[in-house]
Order: sequence, then C-alpha cells, then structure tokens
Amino acid sequence: MSHDPFRLQVRAWLETYCPQPMRQPMTEEFGAAWGGRNPEFSCDSERGWLLNMAQKGWIAPQWPVAFGGAGLSREEADILQQELDAIGARPPLIGSGLWMLGPVLLEYGTEDQKRRHLPPIARGEVRWAQGYSEPNAGSDLASLKLRADLVGDAYVLNGSKIWSSYADKSDWMFLLARTDFNAPQHQGISFLLVDLTAPGITRRPIKLIDGTHDFCEVFFDNVRAQADDLVGLPGQGWTIAKKLMDYERLMIGAASFAPPPAQPGALGRSAKGIDDNAMLRAQIAQYDIDAFTLDWTNQRIRAEMEAGLPLVPAMASVTKLMGAVLEIEGKELVLKAHGSDALSWPVGSPASDRALAKDFLRARSSAIAGGTNEIQLNIIAKHALGM
Ligand SMILES: Cc1cc2nc3c(=O)[nH]c(=O)nc-3n(C[C@H](O)[C@H](O)[C@H](O)COP(=O)(O)OP(=O)(O)OC[C@H]3O[C@@H](n4cnc5c(N)ncnc54)[C@H](O)[C@@H]3O)c2cc1C
Repeated sequence: MSHDPFRLQVRAWLETYCPQPMRQPMTEEFGAAWGGRNPEFSCDSERGWLLNMAQKGWIAPQWPVAFGGAGLSREEADILQQELDAIGARPPLIGSGLWMLGPVLLEYGTEDQKRRHLPPIARGEVRWAQGYSEPNAGSDLASLKLRADLVGDAYVLNGSKIWSSYADKSDWMFLLARTDFNAPQHQGISFLLVDLTAPGITRRPIKLIDGTHDFCEVFFDNVRAQADDLVGLPGQGWTIAKKLMDYERLMIGAASFAPPPAQPGALGRSAKGIDDNAMLRAQIAQYDIDAFTLDWTNQRIRAEMEAGLPLVPAMASVTKLMGAVLEIEGKELVLKAHGSDALSWPVGSPASDRALAKDFLRARSSAIAGGTNEIQLNIIAKHALGM
C-alpha cells in the first residue's frame, strides 16, 4: 500500500510522456534506441521517449542519482517496470553499456570511473561495444593476446579483436587485454575501457551473407588508453569479465526467445499450416510450455538477485542455453506454419513484410553469441552437476 502513490505517479507520468508509437511491440526495423554520440532514431517518438526517460533517470532506475539513475528502491523499480509492461512500452534504450558494463562498473569501478562513464550511459549519450573475442580466442577466451603495456599514465594496446557487435557505431569499448605475459593465463588479463576514436584504432565491418554488417574487426596499433580506465586491479580482468558475461547471458536468455507461437498474433493470420496439422500443433504446445517455463525461471532469477541473493553462475548459462534453443525452435515452428510463404526474402520492403526466413537464419547466432551452446553445457556440467 505504501507504494500506491508512487504507482499512480508513474502511471500519470507515462500517460503523458510515453508516446503512443512507443507502446507497440518492437520489430527488426522499428526497435529501440541504441543511443551514442551520433544516435540514430527510427522516428521522433523514439528520440522523445529516450529523452523523457533519461530526464527522469528511469533508464537505469536503480542506479544512484549521482550516476544518472533515479535511485529507486527495488520495490519502486518493480512498480515502474510493471507500469511500463502494462502499456506495452518499449525499452527507451538498449545496449551493452546499460545491461552489462553499467552493473559491472557499479561493483568494480572507482568513484571517478563511475562518475565519468555511468551518467552518459544512463542518458544514452555514449554507446559501448564489447571487445572480448579475438581470431584465436573465442570459446577459449583466456588465450587472448591483445597486449596492453603500461607506459607512463597510459596503457599502450597492440593486437586485434573480432566479432565486436556494432563497434563501427559505438563510441567506447570495454575490452580484455593481456597486461602480464608471464602470469598464469587467467591472471594476466585486465579489463580496460577504450575510446574508439583514439588514434591507432581501425574498425573494419564484416559483411554478412544478408548484406548487413553487424560485426567488426577492430585493430589496435599503439593505441593509448588512460591508465585510469583500467577497471579493478591489473590482472583482475578475468573475474570481472566472467561477472559481465553472467549479465550478458541473463540478458540474452531473457530476450532471445520469441513469444510462444501459440500466442495470439505471434504466427500471424496467414499461417496456413496449423489447423490441419496435429503434429505441428503438438510441437507448438510443447514450445509454449518450455517458453513459459523459461520465462518463469528468468523471473525467479531476477527476484533472487533483487532480493540480494548471489547469482549462481551456472544459472546464467542455463537460461542463456535455453533461450538460444527456444529461439531457434520458435523460428523453425514459424517457418513450418507458414509453409512456402516463408520462403519470400523481402529486400527493401516495408517493415510489415516479415522476413521469416531471415529471422530463422538470424536466430542461429544466439547459439554462438555470448558463448556457444556447447560452452554453456560445459559450464553447467562443471558448476551445476559437479562433473
Ligand atoms: C551475434 C553475435 C554477436 C557477437 N558479439 C560479440 C561482441 O560484441 N564482442 C565479442 O567479443 N564477441 C562477440 N561475438 C563472438 C562470440 O563470443 C564467439 O563467436 C563465441 O564465443 C565462439 O567463439 P568462436 O567464434 O571463436 O568459435 P570457436 O571457439 O572456435 O568454436 C567453434 C566450435 O567449437 C565448439 N567448441 C569450442 N570449444 C569447445 C569446448 N571446450 N567444448 C565443446 N565445444 C567446443 C564451439 O561450441 C563451436 O561450435 C559474437 C558472436 C555472435 C554470433
């Protein structure tokens, strides 16, 4: 009851400040804002929604006010989320700065790092890329070789990263670099923040089969990163990286799988294969059960974390793995239900013309990003099953 006035206040504010177009489900073409120094918005409402929420500090509602948040309690943040969900509001901002780096900086960052980096994230003014993978360090991430040598008040970086999502559109990168080549493999790694406009950085987009280029190779040639931007201690990077990956895996697990195909509208009215195919209906029912189970598991993990319980690392892998499996299954079911209609491949067509085959192919990447399914199984086997 004590929070009822807050709920009413939130509801009234959203009624005024959440533009109507932002109360519709996201599509590939009409999504949410990524922010950044040179932000791109699909419409004015998207820009307005980001600005309105940023002014309230509600993009990162539980972050302290001094760091761009609203300092809301857990209960207040829940109420805000419930009210956003109730009107179908889109997230005002998406991206790895908000979801992954922010929580890690709150835990490991210095006051100065928090003060410099968190408010621009919470206002959507700086977009971040993740620099973990290297050409010979993907699943075996700890074998990474990007070197960072301390010279005066800066780390000098030489080497390269690969598969860095949207690095060409991002402003900064959080990355893992080797600061000690003599230490045991995991203890020579540090976690650094690097301005992607620094001299010596080359970002080369990787063109994909569908013509888009969501990833980049990033090359570092004597790039200077402020020593003040090393997070945690030198050599503590692996611990911090794992923490960040937990946030990443939870986020992928919660976001990747599609709504159950049996939900009204999820398959669309043109889905012709459902009514006369009992086998397909049974598969959809099974998918629904699994998807709801995952959703409830995610809610349970979130509630436990909000209650201050530590995240069991294997749980991030469980939810990430199941999210990836279900996303692929869901897209396969959609293809089956649409039959030959799903074969169309719209090029430059309106957003309403859904590219089902494209969605299906895209879904397969969730079994790789953030650690492959096999790697999640290894983590679960080791940390949950003690194998
Ligand atoms: C959509 C997408 C976005 C991404 N974004 C980023 C990003 O922003 N930043 C970033 O740093 N990286 C990013 N990545 C890279 C991603 O983290 C790596 O692709 C992933 O960790 C796998 O590494 P790899 O590609 O080198 O494959 P490899 O490690 O070479 O694996 C090849 C195959 O071998 C299997 N395998 C490897 N080791 C084992 C093992 N020990 N046990 C069982 N099987 C094994 C793997 O499961 C896989 O099937 C992204 C990838 C995708 C698909």
